[in-house]
Amino acid sequence: MALSSCLGFPRIGPKRELKWALEKYWKKSIDDDELQRRYDDIRIRRWSAQSTLSQVPIFDCSLYDHVLDTVQLFSAIPQRFQTLPSNTREQYFAMARGTTIAKKEIPAMDMSKWFDTNYHYIVPEFESNQQFSLQPEHLLQELDLATSLGIPFRPVVLGPLSFLLLGKSQASQPFTYLDALLEAYGSLLQLLSSCNVEWLQLDEPMLAILPESESMHYAMHTYEVLNKQSTYTKILLATYFESLHDKKNLIYELPVEGIHVDCINGIHTASTLAHCAERKELVSLGVVDGRNIWRNDLEESLAILEPMQDILGHEKIMVNSSCSLLHCPIDIRLESSISKNILPQMSFAVQKIKEIVLLTTAITTGRESIIHELSHNEHIRKERLSIPGIHSPDVQSRLDAIKQKDFVRNNPFEKRSEIQKESVQLPLFPTTTIGSFPQTDDLRIARAQYKKQEITQGEYTETLRKNIAEVIKFQDEIDLDVLVHGEAERNDMVEYFGELLEGCITTEFGWVQSYGSRCVKPPIIYGDVYRKKEMTVPWISWAQSLTTRPVKGMLTGPVTILKWSFIRQDISKKTIAYQIALAIRDEVSDLEKSGISIIQIDEPALREGLPLIPEKQADYLNWAVNSFKLSSSHVKDSTQIHSHMCYSEFNDIIDSIIALDADVISIESTRSNMELLDTFIQKKYPYAIGPGVYDIHSPVIPSSDTIYSSLNYILTVINSSQVWVNPDCGLKTRKWEEITPSLANMVAAAKKLRQNIVQ
Ligand code: GLN
Ligand code: ZN
Repeated sequence: MALSSCLGFPRIGPKRELKWALEKYWKKSIDDDELQRRYDDIRIRRWSAQSTLSQVPIFDCSLYDHVLDTVQLFSAIPQRFQTLPSNTREQYFAMARGTTIAKKEIPAMDMSKWFDTNYHYIVPEFESNQQFSLQPEHLLQELDLATSLGIPFRPVVLGPLSFLLLGKSQASQPFTYLDALLEAYGSLLQLLSSCNVEWLQLDEPMLAILPESESMHYAMHTYEVLNKQSTYTKILLATYFESLHDKKNLIYELPVEGIHVDCINGIHTASTLAHCAERKELVSLGVVDGRNIWRNDLEESLAILEPMQDILGHEKIMVNSSCSLLHCPIDIRLESSISKNILPQMSFAVQKIKEIVLLTTAITTGRESIIHELSHNEHIRKERLSIPGIHSPDVQSRLDAIKQKDFVRNNPFEKRSEIQKESVQLPLFPTTTIGSFPQTDDLRIARAQYKKQEITQGEYTETLRKNIAEVIKFQDEIDLDVLVHGEAERNDMVEYFGELLEGCITTEFGWVQSYGSRCVKPPIIYGDVYRKKEMTVPWISWAQSLTTRPVKGMLTGPVTILKWSFIRQDISKKTIAYQIALAIRDEVSDLEKSGISIIQIDEPALREGLPLIPEKQADYLNWAVNSFKLSSSHVKDSTQIHSHMCYSEFNDIIDSIIALDADVISIESTRSNMELLDTFIQKKYPYAIGPGVYDIHSPVIPSSDTIYSSLNYILTVINSSQVWVNPDCGLKTRKWEEITPSLANMVAAAKKLRQNIVQ
């Protein structure tokens, strides 16, 4: 009998139960016991949703993040948290979110993007003399819970190589810690062996990404050591996000009993893979896509599974998800408003489990045993190609008509910046913000009421216009130079456009965890994308009508809309990005026509979309940059194009940032000032730039002196005529009480600097 499993399941709960529990706990409206009760309940429900699998992953759930759980499991607690009671929630959440000890602010550990996904993990910190020891209480609690319920479980832990490589180390290279860490992993294997746990899944996504030449030595050493430590428990080594197809030796040589490969993101020809896996007891094939929401093409999956089964026999095969289902929404059955043409095409985590089980049956007892499902699947698959509206001849002809000149601005930066200086008079060091202002309870309530049709469109519009007027008045009063309307109308910078663009739908409960208790609802792009009518002009021109200062138009860029959506698979990412770019281009034109002369097109996901392996990067960067240019290059010389980027290390894509040809960019930089600016200097970055001078991710109010000294530092490396003054990112998640003094201090610092420079 072939086995069925998934690599991990979403954690937040179908109605975001984990989010609500955590936020109540943080606000102290529920206590430790109640949080535990709710967490147990969430885990039990997850397992029952997977009860048809022959192996259910456990310990893949987390109260905040699985990398932080690994930090706790191996006691890699950074020094500054060590005075807190060890192995407690207090210490755990302090690492995730920061805390105050004896009136002193203890900053949280850093967060970073989990490979090329929009999930953020907590970055481990390894100190120069780093020690590790196993702290298995939480793991044992979960083992007990699963055992008491009779779940056929398989614990999941991040593998040692990926754990080290994902961290920041004080040693010159992370593998310095490897032997110490392997002792702790060894203890884990001994413990699991003594508990008669048959399989342990060790996640090593890094092995799929690093070239074989770099990883082979350490991988062999690691798994030889671990193999010796285990007296009973077998290791299923899980790789994902890229294929192992060029790493044949690695698969063949590694002394692990089971190996998982991602069959969605890589081609594994059956004969080569089967040969490499000859010595393994179990080959897990990730044929059900963990990162998209389309129904599985059963024929396509069987075309991978059946030849493997012919060579290896079904007992050796495990049918699996390509990666953890963490990146998918939970259950399509909660959706009540998706069109009947599209709904049957979709599959969320719960439905994916069914697909895995079905495929397992097919290879165990032959495809005849699922003959009805196969023909039904085939029928639905054909229907996908004829969903009404999926192909728009107008969009196609616009794409066909794109010319090289559509990617290029009328004049080079030097020339147009002179024209812009004439048309919008701005002081030296212009001050501005990144777009959003606090999303107040009033706004959230009005939006919810509008969605439930409890208030009319007119009433909703009125609330938004009132909010925009307040935001404009505030900015006028504190004397910012370039104002924004505040994005009151947007629930989210991508979902908002997903609701308005044709070819996209949004969901009611399609939440995906972004970090901790934060979730997003990615739109689903199912057809050709285009804009039917203006999306932002009424709000922005209303804002402009209330002030004599310039109001910056605010749009989300094509790459970010693409990256933060679930996308169709019948056309290339590049084509989808160009379609979105044309829609944004239309919006840019309309903003320009309505008198807006500064337009910001945000691309925070530009870096995140960078493929994980170098061979694929140049092509991506080429179409990503072109998409931005397609959306922005047609404007008049006098129109100033801004872009904003965050969460990124930009060093490796600086040439592409230059190639955007944006007149002004703002970047998140308070945490990494030095490094980041160094790159911009080295490259002689020619455009204007606003390195964020205040960290909006923290509730701390920066003093005017702190901002002033950051600006002075910036001036040592960037020409004064190029410098803009702005926060790190949007202010949406902050409170008015925080942003009012912070922005006032920012403006004061810019004014002081102007005076001092002039003198
Ligand atoms: N304009 C957006 C905002 O201010 C940008 C957000 C982002 O970079 N993630 O909220
Ligand atoms: Zn940002």
